Amino acid sequence: MKKLENKVAVVTGGNSGIGLAAAKLYVAQGAKVAITGRNKTTIDAAVNDIGGDIIGIVSDVSDLGSITKSYEQITETFGKIDVLVVNAGVFIGAPLADFTEEMFDTTSDINFKGAFFSVQKALPFLNDGASVIITSSAVSNKAMATASAYAATKAAVTSLARGFSAELADRQIRVNVLSPGPIETPIFGRSGMSAEQVDGMKAYMADIVPAKRLGNVEEIAEGYLYLASDDSKYMIGGDLVLDGGYSRF
Ligand code: NAD
Repeated sequence: MKKLENKVAVVTGGNSGIGLAAAKLYVAQGAKVAITGRNKTTIDAAVNDIGGDIIGIVSDVSDLGSITKSYEQITETFGKIDVLVVNAGVFIGAPLADFTEEMFDTTSDINFKGAFFSVQKALPFLNDGASVIITSSAVSNKAMATASAYAATKAAVTSLARGFSAELADRQIRVNVLSPGPIETPIFGRSGMSAEQVDGMKAYMADIVPAKRLGNVEEIAEGYLYLASDDSKYMIGGDLVLDGGYSRF
């Protein structure tokens, strides 16, 4: 029995990394899935790769009008949304002294403001009883040099999941976060760091994580399936931590 039969799911940032793996698993579990992202070429490639009941929409979560338009297009095609994965995010790493206002605004506009309005603008398009999942990070509970602004945006969305759950309880809409640890995805390569710095960071993370390796997107996708399905119906405003032990030791 498939776990998401007859469900409509939306995954922001579904054209790469963690979001792409979650979208793939959702389709395999019977959902109709819409992925959004900023890059049409990678969205089209992801849609072709996954196949089945999936559409791709170009949308920028830091642009409120674009968020609303994407929900209008998705619901015209599939109907109202049962599962919303607010996953689009960026990592910009730099020492505190070098962190520019532009770096701060980009991090905040996409990871925090983008998450807030991805949920707010979805409200008219969500079915009662929907599951909303926001991608946080295990680093929100840790101290990590060069990642202060990033970690703070992730702590912010963990808080949003609690507040939103309280606000949406009357519609039985559950809002939870999933907090991955260090996962092998293209995110670090897009961070402005050199290839050498990215390799160094990954090696450092693999060393300090009790699992002694980075996680892979397939094992994280299982968490998104749990939060999307009725298996997690007693989980509200919570935090599913899948981090190889990173934040607990
Ligand atoms: P990724 O770079 O592969 O994917 C990020 C996705 O977000 C891409 O699809 C990109 O198109 C999309 N995106 C970025 N800015 C956007 C915008 N303005 N509008 C719409 N889409 C936008 O990285 P990933 O590792 O798969 O990251 C997914 C989420 O997981 C992010 O929120 C990230 O912060 C979080 N996360 C990642 C890790 C990790 O180690 N990889 C750990 C913890 C949390």
